[in-house]
Amino acid sequence: MTGSCLCGKVRYEAEGELTAMHHCHCSRCRKHSGAAFVTDGFVAASGFRWLSGEDALRVYRVPGRTSTRVFCGTCGSSLGGHDERWPDFIVVNAGTLDDDPGTRPLYHIYVGSKAPWFTITDSLTQFATAVEQEG
Ligand SMILES: [Zn+2]
Ligand SMILES: [Zn+2]
Repeated sequence: MTGSCLCGKVRYEAEGELTAMHHCHCSRCRKHSGAAFVTDGFVAASGFRWLSGEDALRVYRVPGRTSTRVFCGTCGSSLGGHDERWPDFIVVNAGTLDDDPGTRPLYHIYVGSKAPWFTITDSLTQFATAVEQEG
């Protein structure tokens, strides 16, 4: 699968499946995306590579968290990130994918801190915080 940012400068490719796809409602995802929640999943780090625009990437580490947030320094697209607790995986923000990854969201996390103006209307399992710890 491939993905890209809004301006098209940054492009990436990932082999294999997008696993553990889910919606995250934590305040960090909301702030970084500007949206009600972020839908993301994991791909194997071994099969992930930047196709272009690696020099445009910016990395932000939320203080006190183990994860980094990667975004395009030109257009600001939030692409995903990396968590040092899971070195073998890359977090991919599904909204930046160019095609249908084939998998579907499995659950909601950090529902306890979701935006008060957003109502979840699907029947997926809701977790108050994380399934596993997520940054
Ligand atoms: Zn961009
Ligand atoms: Zn989150």
